[in-house]
Amino acid sequence: MLIFTSAEYSLSVQNTRMFKNENLYSILASGFPADLDTVAIETPSRLYSFRDIEQASARFANYLSSLGMPPGGRILVQVEKSPEALMFYLGVLRAGFVYVPLNTAYRETELAYFLGDAKPSLVVCSEPNRAWVDALVQKQGSVRVETLNADRSGTLLDAATAFASNFETVASLSDDLGVILYTSGTTGRSKGAMLSHLNMASNAQVLHRYWGWQSSDVLLHMLPIFHVHGLFVAAHGALLAGARMVWLPKFDIEQALHYLPRCTVMMGVPTYYVRLLAQPEFGHAHCKNMRLFISGSAPLLQETFDNFRQRTGHTILERYGMSETVMLTSNPYDSKEGPRLGGTVGRPLPGVAVRVVGDTDQPMPDGEIGHIQVRGDNVFSGYWQMPDKTQESFTNDGWFRTGDLGHWNQQGYLVIVGRSKDLIITGGYNVYPKEIELIIDDLPGVLESAVVGVPHPDFGEAVVAVVVPQPGATLEPTALQAQLKQLIANFKVPKHVHVVAELPRNTMGKVQKNVLRDRYQLS
Ligand code: AMP
Repeated sequence: MLIFTSAEYSLSVQNTRMFKNENLYSILASGFPADLDTVAIETPSRLYSFRDIEQASARFANYLSSLGMPPGGRILVQVEKSPEALMFYLGVLRAGFVYVPLNTAYRETELAYFLGDAKPSLVVCSEPNRAWVDALVQKQGSVRVETLNADRSGTLLDAATAFASNFETVASLSDDLGVILYTSGTTGRSKGAMLSHLNMASNAQVLHRYWGWQSSDVLLHMLPIFHVHGLFVAAHGALLAGARMVWLPKFDIEQALHYLPRCTVMMGVPTYYVRLLAQPEFGHAHCKNMRLFISGSAPLLQETFDNFRQRTGHTILERYGMSETVMLTSNPYDSKEGPRLGGTVGRPLPGVAVRVVGDTDQPMPDGEIGHIQVRGDNVFSGYWQMPDKTQESFTNDGWFRTGDLGHWNQQGYLVIVGRSKDLIITGGYNVYPKEIELIIDDLPGVLESAVVGVPHPDFGEAVVAVVVPQPGATLEPTALQAQLKQLIANFKVPKHVHVVAELPRNTMGKVQKNVLRDRYQLS
């Protein structure tokens, strides 16, 4: 069995050991420039320096420390993206409490679940939601509620302003919890992934070196900050490098085109790249200072990878990670380590071990599809208050079961073929949706596709394809099926093909296969 670890594994583990018992904030701040008045965050209307970050996070930390919350107390945060929200996150880390960010799309019933599960001491929401948050919180006993809005207003800021702008960051033990990240929970209840200061710090440090972060970098930050991608990979990366972030509330094509020429790093979900390519004027001029385009959180289509390279001369670097583990693998940054290959997520990062195994965790012949399992300082300790789920998620010898299926290609790069729960078993045969999707995507007139299994009385499950045509193309389901019959075994040919204008995606650009399974049940 291949267990790919990087040659740098032991070296990087030694290096991350330096960070034992340090607060994540202290590690990030060790990368701040000597001149703290350097710009750290630039929004369309305001500049914030590293000193602003130090002082605002100190005020928040002093305020939090004054509340008498128990050590390890949770702070549930559902607010719009703003620099102040990032500074509040840093204040929570500094004061030694646990930050629990929530997707801004969640409504009342969802919030009721998170309140009951996380049992926070403090909830921070935006002003327009205050009334229903207050009503929910009253049912939970004594929980404090404060507000923080994207326009620099809110009771949290009012309260924190009164506190001192210096704070001695609490020394955290490396295993101390820093963040609970709730997984998107497309099956069953959302689970709270418990991430320690060491999990996040070790990964930030590894990515800092692996992607060649520099203090002269300017990161175009358009991702949400309730998720691992925007909060950890992007924001931690820029902070640790002492680099500037151009901070936009969300992806907006006009603003992206406006700011791109000044930026050196962009991180995005694949949809951002698709949308950039859809702009006829997008090209070399927008990328004139660009050092690195990074994609992740969902699979990047080969077509997008190829078209982007053709249009801009830049090769997108695709990486793979998840809430429970932060980042796991990456295509090379340095061409001396190999090319960036589309359709792959690269090799394990330094300090991360990755293996592909069979259904009983047994070794697999090289190159065959199996379950992806990982270990390393970056891997979380378990799910909040779910000991059974935690136990199921780790093997006896300590590997985390990611729930993703994949295989190694000949260059030793990992190829992800999907989530194991999306595997289709039809008439006793395994069908990997990704294999069929790649073939459908290559048919003339197809922009993209998603393949799911739906219950079938004879076969157990039936293969169903949902296909999006290229602009101006017309697709006929029966013609698509006929073409597929020429290319793949009959049991893999979708029993039904639905042609739709677009696929349902969540904020992170992931196709919501659970929605498709419900929508396209056989009648
Ligand atoms: P989340 O915890 O929301 O970040 O989701 C993590 C999941 O997203 C992983 O387990 C993968 O299934 C998927 N994912 C992340 N990055 C990639 C990628 N580059 N290609 C394919 N799937 C990805």
